Amino acid sequence: MKHWQNHSQILLPEDAFEALQANTTATISLEIDKELLKESRTLSAVNKEIQQIRREKANGTTRDGKIALGICEENSGLLMYNGLIWIPDNDILRLRILRDHHDAQAAGHPGQARTLELIRRNFYRTGQWKYIHRYVDYCYTSHCIKPIRHAPFGMLKPLELPHRPWDMMSMDFITALLMSNGKDALWVIIDWLTKMGHFVACHGTMNPEDLADHFLQQVIRPHGLPSDIE
Ligand SMILES: [Zn+2]
Repeated sequence: MKHWQNHSQILLPEDAFEALQANTTATISLEIDKELLKESRTLSAVNKEIQQIRREKANGTTRDGKIALGICEENSGLLMYNGLIWIPDNDILRLRILRDHHDAQAAGHPGQARTLELIRRNFYRTGQWKYIHRYVDYCYTSHCIKPIRHAPFGMLKPLELPHRPWDMMSMDFITALLMSNGKDALWVIIDWLTKMGHFVACHGTMNPEDLADHFLQQVIRPHGLPSDIE
Protein backbone atom coordinates (compact mmCIF):
# COMPACT_ATOMS: atom_id res chain seq x y z
CA MET A 1 0.00 0.00 0.00
CA LYS A 2 2.87 2.26 0.86
CA HIS A 3 4.45 2.31 -2.63
CA TRP A 4 1.12 3.29 -4.17
CA GLN A 5 1.52 6.57 -2.31
CA ASN A 6 4.86 7.18 -4.14
CA HIS A 7 3.48 6.10 -7.47
CA SER A 8 3.96 9.44 -9.25
CA GLN A 9 7.27 10.29 -7.58
CA ILE A 10 10.35 10.58 -9.86
CA LEU A 11 13.48 9.58 -7.96
CA LEU A 12 16.03 11.07 -10.41
CA PRO A 13 15.89 14.75 -11.39
CA GLU A 14 15.05 15.54 -15.01
CA ASP A 15 18.53 16.85 -15.87
CA ALA A 16 19.99 13.41 -14.99
CA PHE A 17 17.95 11.93 -17.85
CA GLU A 18 19.30 14.62 -20.16
CA ALA A 19 22.85 13.70 -19.18
CA LEU A 20 22.06 10.03 -19.80
CA GLN A 21 20.74 10.89 -23.23
CA ALA A 22 23.85 12.94 -24.03
CA ASN A 23 26.03 9.99 -23.03
CA THR A 24 24.15 7.60 -25.29
CA THR A 25 24.58 10.00 -28.22
CA ALA A 26 28.29 10.22 -27.46
CA THR A 27 28.65 6.42 -27.54
CA ILE A 28 26.86 6.26 -30.87
CA SER A 29 29.12 8.95 -32.34
CA LEU A 30 32.04 6.55 -31.70
CA GLU A 31 30.48 4.24 -34.26
CA ILE A 32 31.81 4.59 -37.80
CA ASP A 33 31.63 8.11 -39.17
CA LYS A 34 30.02 8.32 -42.65
CA GLU A 35 32.84 10.48 -44.02
CA LEU A 36 35.36 7.98 -42.73
CA LEU A 37 33.53 5.16 -44.49
CA LYS A 38 33.45 7.15 -47.72
CA GLU A 39 37.18 7.86 -47.51
CA SER A 40 37.94 4.20 -46.71
CA ARG A 41 35.87 3.13 -49.70
CA THR A 42 37.63 5.57 -52.05
CA LEU A 43 41.08 4.50 -50.85
CA SER A 44 40.15 0.80 -50.91
CA ALA A 45 39.37 1.12 -54.62
CA VAL A 46 42.87 2.37 -55.51
CA ASN A 47 45.07 0.98 -52.72
CA LYS A 48 47.78 -1.35 -54.09
CA GLU A 49 47.81 -3.59 -51.02
CA ILE A 50 44.05 -4.15 -51.14
CA GLN A 51 44.14 -4.72 -54.91
CA GLN A 52 46.83 -7.36 -54.34
CA ILE A 53 44.63 -9.10 -51.70
CA ARG A 54 41.69 -9.01 -54.11
CA ARG A 55 43.81 -10.51 -56.90
CA GLU A 56 45.11 -13.31 -54.67
CA LYS A 57 41.60 -14.07 -53.46
CA ALA A 58 40.32 -14.19 -57.05
CA ASN A 59 43.12 -16.65 -57.88
CA GLY A 60 41.93 -18.93 -55.04
CA THR A 61 44.89 -18.26 -52.71
CA THR A 62 43.94 -18.80 -49.07
CA ARG A 63 46.97 -17.27 -47.36
CA ASP A 64 49.47 -14.60 -48.42
CA GLY A 65 51.94 -14.93 -45.52
CA LYS A 66 50.52 -12.03 -43.52
CA ILE A 67 46.78 -12.69 -43.37
CA ALA A 68 44.26 -15.47 -43.85
CA LEU A 69 42.56 -14.65 -47.16
CA GLY A 70 39.78 -17.13 -46.45
CA ILE A 71 38.17 -14.73 -43.97
CA CYS A 72 38.44 -11.71 -46.30
CA GLU A 73 35.30 -10.68 -48.15
CA GLU A 74 33.90 -7.73 -50.08
CA ASN A 75 31.18 -5.51 -48.66
CA SER A 76 29.97 -2.36 -50.46
CA GLY A 77 33.38 -1.50 -51.90
CA LEU A 78 35.22 -2.26 -48.65
CA LEU A 79 37.52 -5.17 -47.95
CA MET A 80 36.33 -6.88 -44.78
CA TYR A 81 38.67 -8.99 -42.64
CA ASN A 82 36.81 -11.31 -40.28
CA GLY A 83 33.86 -8.87 -40.34
CA LEU A 84 36.05 -5.78 -39.75
CA ILE A 85 36.92 -3.06 -42.26
CA TRP A 86 40.47 -3.51 -43.52
CA ILE A 87 42.16 -0.10 -43.13
CA PRO A 88 43.86 0.85 -46.42
CA ASP A 89 47.58 1.62 -46.13
CA ASN A 90 47.26 5.41 -45.90
CA ASP A 91 48.88 7.50 -43.16
CA ILE A 92 46.21 10.23 -43.09
CA LEU A 93 43.35 7.73 -42.86
CA ARG A 94 45.09 5.67 -40.18
CA LEU A 95 45.70 8.80 -38.11
CA ARG A 96 42.13 9.97 -38.56
CA ILE A 97 40.71 6.63 -37.39
CA LEU A 98 43.03 6.67 -34.40
CA ARG A 99 42.12 10.25 -33.47
CA ASP A 100 38.41 9.48 -33.79
CA HIS A 101 38.82 6.66 -31.27
CA HIS A 102 41.26 8.35 -28.91
CA ASP A 103 41.18 12.18 -29.09
CA ALA A 104 37.44 12.54 -29.71
CA GLN A 105 35.45 13.97 -26.81
CA ALA A 106 33.32 10.84 -26.66
CA ALA A 107 36.41 8.61 -26.51
CA GLY A 108 38.06 10.65 -23.74
CA HIS A 109 41.71 9.71 -24.30
CA PRO A 110 41.53 6.05 -23.23
CA GLY A 111 44.68 3.98 -22.63
CA GLN A 112 46.48 1.93 -25.28
CA ALA A 113 44.51 -1.30 -24.80
CA ARG A 114 41.16 0.50 -24.67
CA THR A 115 41.95 2.55 -27.81
CA LEU A 116 42.85 -0.65 -29.67
CA GLU A 117 39.68 -2.30 -28.43
CA LEU A 118 37.55 0.64 -29.67
CA ILE A 119 39.20 0.59 -33.11
CA ARG A 120 38.98 -3.21 -33.37
CA ARG A 121 35.21 -3.03 -32.99
CA ASN A 122 35.06 -1.90 -36.61
CA PHE A 123 38.53 -1.72 -38.16
CA TYR A 124 41.45 -4.03 -38.71
CA ARG A 125 45.03 -3.60 -39.81
CA THR A 126 48.19 -5.58 -39.10
CA GLY A 127 50.70 -3.77 -36.89
CA GLN A 128 47.99 -1.61 -35.30
CA TRP A 129 49.12 -2.21 -31.73
CA LYS A 130 52.60 -0.69 -32.23
CA TYR A 131 51.15 2.36 -33.98
CA ILE A 132 48.51 2.96 -31.26
CA HIS A 133 51.00 2.30 -28.47
CA ARG A 134 53.40 4.97 -29.78
CA TYR A 135 50.63 7.52 -30.40
CA VAL A 136 49.08 7.18 -26.92
CA ASP A 137 52.52 7.14 -25.32
CA TYR A 138 53.29 10.58 -26.77
CA CYS A 139 49.78 12.04 -26.34
CA TYR A 140 50.19 15.22 -24.24
CA THR A 141 46.54 15.31 -23.09
CA SER A 142 46.66 11.70 -21.92
CA HIS A 143 49.70 12.52 -19.80
CA CYS A 144 48.01 15.60 -18.32
CA ILE A 145 44.78 13.84 -17.34
CA LYS A 146 46.43 10.70 -15.95
CA PRO A 147 45.35 10.29 -12.31
CA ILE A 148 48.08 10.38 -9.65
CA ARG A 149 48.20 6.96 -7.99
CA HIS A 150 51.23 7.27 -5.72
CA ALA A 151 51.15 8.42 -2.08
CA PRO A 152 51.69 12.17 -1.55
CA PHE A 153 55.32 13.23 -1.41
CA GLY A 154 56.67 13.90 2.09
CA MET A 155 58.60 16.97 3.24
CA LEU A 156 62.21 17.26 2.19
CA LYS A 157 64.63 16.55 5.02
CA PRO A 158 67.98 18.29 4.48
CA LEU A 159 71.09 16.46 5.60
CA GLU A 160 72.73 17.56 8.81
CA LEU A 161 75.58 19.99 8.17
CA PRO A 162 79.10 19.11 9.35
CA HIS A 163 80.46 21.43 12.08
CA ARG A 164 84.06 21.42 10.80
CA PRO A 165 86.19 19.85 8.05
CA TRP A 166 86.55 16.06 8.44
CA ASP A 167 83.73 15.93 10.99
CA MET A 168 81.58 13.91 8.58
CA MET A 169 82.90 11.80 5.75
CA SER A 170 82.04 9.02 3.36
CA MET A 171 84.24 6.16 2.26
CA ASP A 172 84.26 3.34 -0.25
CA PHE A 173 86.60 0.82 -1.83
CA ILE A 174 87.54 0.42 -5.47
CA THR A 175 88.66 -3.18 -5.75
CA ALA A 176 89.90 -5.68 -8.36
CA LEU A 177 92.40 -3.17 -9.82
CA LEU A 178 95.60 -4.25 -11.56
CA MET A 179 98.31 -5.17 -9.04
CA SER A 180 100.74 -2.29 -8.44
CA ASN A 181 103.48 -2.46 -5.75
CA GLY A 182 101.55 -5.30 -4.07
CA LYS A 183 98.29 -3.25 -3.88
CA ASP A 184 95.14 -4.03 -5.88
CA ALA A 185 92.53 -1.77 -4.23
CA LEU A 186 91.91 1.89 -3.48
CA TRP A 187 90.29 3.18 -0.31
CA VAL A 188 88.55 6.50 -1.05
CA ILE A 189 87.69 8.76 1.92
CA ILE A 190 85.88 12.07 1.14
CA ASP A 191 85.17 14.92 3.58
CA TRP A 192 81.54 16.16 3.24
CA LEU A 193 82.34 19.81 3.94
CA THR A 194 85.44 20.53 1.87
CA LYS A 195 85.11 17.60 -0.59
CA MET A 196 88.79 16.95 0.05
CA GLY A 197 89.75 13.30 -0.35
CA HIS A 198 92.28 10.70 0.70
CA PHE A 199 93.04 7.93 -1.76
CA VAL A 200 94.79 5.12 0.08
CA ALA A 201 96.35 2.27 -1.90
CA CYS A 202 95.60 -1.00 -0.09
CA HIS A 203 94.87 -4.68 -0.60
CA GLY A 204 91.40 -6.04 -1.37
CA THR A 205 91.68 -8.70 1.33
CA MET A 206 92.81 -6.29 4.08
CA ASN A 207 91.68 -7.43 7.55
CA PRO A 208 89.81 -5.13 10.06
CA GLU A 209 92.93 -4.54 12.18
CA ASP A 210 94.91 -3.23 9.18
CA LEU A 211 91.91 -1.12 8.13
CA ALA A 212 91.65 0.43 11.61
CA ASP A 213 95.38 1.12 11.56
CA HIS A 214 95.17 2.82 8.14
CA PHE A 215 92.21 4.90 9.34
CA LEU A 216 94.10 6.00 12.44
CA GLN A 217 97.14 7.05 10.39
CA GLN A 218 95.34 8.62 7.39
CA VAL A 219 92.30 10.31 8.99
CA ILE A 220 92.23 10.53 12.77
CA ARG A 221 95.87 11.59 13.17
CA PRO A 222 95.76 14.58 10.76
CA HIS A 223 92.04 15.55 11.11
CA GLY A 224 90.76 14.37 14.49
CA LEU A 225 87.91 12.00 15.42
CA PRO A 226 84.88 12.25 13.05
CA SER A 227 81.29 12.29 14.31
CA ASP A 228 79.77 10.51 11.29
CA ILE A 229 81.03 8.10 8.61
CA GLU A 230 78.87 6.88 5.75
ZN1 LIG B 1 45.48 11.02 -25.37
